[in-house]
Amino acid sequence: METLHYPVVVIGSGFAGRTVADYFDPQDCLILERGEALDYGRRLEVGEGLLKQGRPLHEAESFVYRSSLPWNSTPRLSEYNYSSYAFVGGGSSNWWGGKCSRISEHVFSSRECLPWALGGDDLRAWYELAEKRLNVSGDPANLEGEPVNSMPGAAYWRKALSPYLASSSIYNVALNFGREGANGQGVCKGRGACAICHNDAKARPDNIFRELNILYGSQVVEIEFEGSVARGVLVFNGKEIFRVTFDRLVVAANGLETPRVLARSDLPSGVRRDYIGMFYQDHAHFSMQCRIPKPIAFRSLGGLCHLKVQELSKFFETALGTVEVGALALTHPPHPDDLHLAVPLHKVFDPVNPIGREELAEYMGGFFEVYCEFEIPPQAGLRVDLNSDEPRVIDGRYAELIPEFDLMAKKMADILLRRGVEVLGSKHWYRNGYGGHHFCGTVNMSDSDQSVLDIDCKLIGSENVYCAGAAVIPRAGGVAPTLTVVALAERLGSYLSAV
Ligand SMILES: Cc1cc2nc3c(=O)[nH]c(=O)nc-3n(C[C@H](O)[C@H](O)[C@H](O)COP(=O)(O)OP(=O)(O)OC[C@H]3O[C@@H](n4cnc5c(N)ncnc54)[C@H](O)[C@@H]3O)c2cc1C
Repeated sequence: METLHYPVVVIGSGFAGRTVADYFDPQDCLILERGEALDYGRRLEVGEGLLKQGRPLHEAESFVYRSSLPWNSTPRLSEYNYSSYAFVGGGSSNWWGGKCSRISEHVFSSRECLPWALGGDDLRAWYELAEKRLNVSGDPANLEGEPVNSMPGAAYWRKALSPYLASSSIYNVALNFGREGANGQGVCKGRGACAICHNDAKARPDNIFRELNILYGSQVVEIEFEGSVARGVLVFNGKEIFRVTFDRLVVAANGLETPRVLARSDLPSGVRRDYIGMFYQDHAHFSMQCRIPKPIAFRSLGGLCHLKVQELSKFFETALGTVEVGALALTHPPHPDDLHLAVPLHKVFDPVNPIGREELAEYMGGFFEVYCEFEIPPQAGLRVDLNSDEPRVIDGRYAELIPEFDLMAKKMADILLRRGVEVLGSKHWYRNGYGGHHFCGTVNMSDSDQSVLDIDCKLIGSENVYCAGAAVIPRAGGVAPTLTVVALAERLGSYLSAV
């Protein structure tokens, strides 16, 4: 059997794996990636072709980010879970929506279940590095911490909604402004369909990292241990199994595959095996179609930006513990499906007194949508099924959250109504299931006896295995994880390169 050796081996070439690897000389660090290298130009052409044929956006996107290697398939994960992930080079970090936020101070300081081993202050410097790396733009008045780059137009949006939603701030979105063509990124034209757009300026692994040493088409099957020291990994490339040995290993295979790779291995006795794959956290969704009497200038911001509605982004008490909601006012024009809400169609087609052009424009101009990410907390008992050959998730007590989410949705609509915002409609996506594609918590680094990792993201019970990615996050709260994924990976890369 052929054997390669590198001082550091990283499993997975998404944001987490590449961020850690970027702290090393490529000749000292090998990334093993089960997917193939992506040819964006060709794939996006095919994707855009599918859109032109009238195929739905999600179908075109999943086609673009699907691996053609036969061992890289992902089934639907469970009855309720419709999260997806990608096995192409760069993984889901290619496909993501670019929505970024720091985790709230309340979540960092909560002691309820799987408390964070780090505080927001410990991560501040790493968040700043992550924001630089992802080209994240944000609102200087962002209450979760000042972002590194500023967002043109942010002040306009805050002002427009301030009579109704006083303490809003723009959410970070990983778009690239003012660096036309740099690293292959385009300039965002504000279409809001980043994953499948040639003009997309979203941060992706291939456009924000220097050239790293990546072995594509190489699936890690198992980690080999001698006592508590990991010596090598067994890798399958479609033809044969080979071994790669190392001094240190970083598992950054995404929140679903990281626990699966560990569980396939003969782990040292000191590893807290029982908690691997447990405490899976993700988000469920709810949206409200709203209107304020004052018109809003859509497209005054570059692309897919979100206004974080602080009045709605809060904790709600449920029978399963507290649940954080992240609520975003979307700043792009209404989805075609919501046109009937944005425009009073009965007035448009009124044969006697049809609505005038100006009145119509004014009516439409005040329409906006609030999109909510409902946290599925660790107490809900979701977990990765480590006994199945195919990726599977066990839904735990998700069904019990549905009536709780109903109550939360009602309270949120009441808050808006009290603030003079007209709620025209609502979509209770959470009733059919959940799926933010976020996969947090499955090898948690918490300040508890249930932690799988120590404070340096090292696998407890091992000498030289580390983890990176959303799996590490003990408590995600109501925000998408990627900014935190990169911040934690910056911290790990810096630590490993210094010891
Ligand atoms: C449609 C979609 C929209 C999203 N939108 C957002 C958003 O707006 N905001 C946000 O914060 N997050 C979003 N996410 C989540 C975001 O994509 C992830 O949090 C982030 O990409 C995780 O980075 P990662 O490096 O941990 O994992 P990935 O980017 O998934 O990288 C993991 C890599 O590991 C490889 N791998 C897995 N198993 C093995 C193995 N056994 N051997 C070798 N290689 C392996 C995979 O092929 C993959 O390339 C979205 C995800 C999806 C799918």
